[in-house]
Amino acid sequence: MTTDQTPASEQPMIQFDQVSKAYGPLTVLDKLDLSVAANEKVAIIGPSGSGKTTVLRMLMTLETIDSGLISVNGEPLTHMPRGESLVRADAAHLRRMRGHIGMVFQHFNLFPHMSAVKNCMEAPMTVLGLSQDEARARASDLLAQVGLADKLDHFPSQLSGGQQQRVAIARALAMRPKVMLFDEVTSALDPELCGEVLAVIRDLAAEHDLTMLMVTHQMGFAREFADRVCFFHAGSIEEQGPAQALFENPQNERTQQFLRAVM
Ligand code: ADP
Repeated sequence: MTTDQTPASEQPMIQFDQVSKAYGPLTVLDKLDLSVAANEKVAIIGPSGSGKTTVLRMLMTLETIDSGLISVNGEPLTHMPRGESLVRADAAHLRRMRGHIGMVFQHFNLFPHMSAVKNCMEAPMTVLGLSQDEARARASDLLAQVGLADKLDHFPSQLSGGQQQRVAIARALAMRPKVMLFDEVTSALDPELCGEVLAVIRDLAAEHDLTMLMVTHQMGFAREFADRVCFFHAGSIEEQGPAQALFENPQNERTQQFLRAVM
């Protein structure tokens, strides 16, 4: 949240303050604090079930929180503080906040009955109100950036998994988000197709002013891509730091065990 002392440029792009979430008896996030600066690239690693994907789903407003507060770009995401309590924000606020965030999922989730270019035109036309020509120009440009200039009219079924995932990245970017979320974006791909997707993400990170949050099992990529790596355990951050420090000299016993098992 903005305070009188915090210039807008230093305000975190994403902030989780003491965010908790449980499914019945299972605590998934346990008073999580996480702050991500504008343009920062953060990788989230950790064992299965430690709450990594839940963090991304909360930012997409696909999950509700039990307590705490999430802010994006200095504004509360889903709940407004009112006195001592929190009140759910109205639909217009949620729509505007969702517009800041793009997500790429493990299983691409493209519209199967639409060509690559149409997949990237749909939301800019229906949500942002772009004309067909504007949306097509933006989509074509982005598909060229992800190396698919010659595949605009191909349907998802005519594309490889890596190409489909690159369409999904272009589709998310077409909404001009401030934040991009990546959830295990290579884990449904054959190993030989991972490289092309990771290369696209690496180029985007270098060329665009984007805040990126990535859940990944690819430690090599996390190390190369991320400014900071957060190791999750049981719904909170057990250890975090610059990628090189965390991978080469982890301080926490659990981080050490995890890295020994996966690297
Ligand atoms: P990770 O991404 O670290 O593997 P998740 O954030 O996906 O972990 O899930 C954390 C825990 O929450 C897991 O134990 C998972 O089974 C559980 N979980 C996630 N979504 C639901 C749900 N809708 N209902 C019940 N349990 C869930």
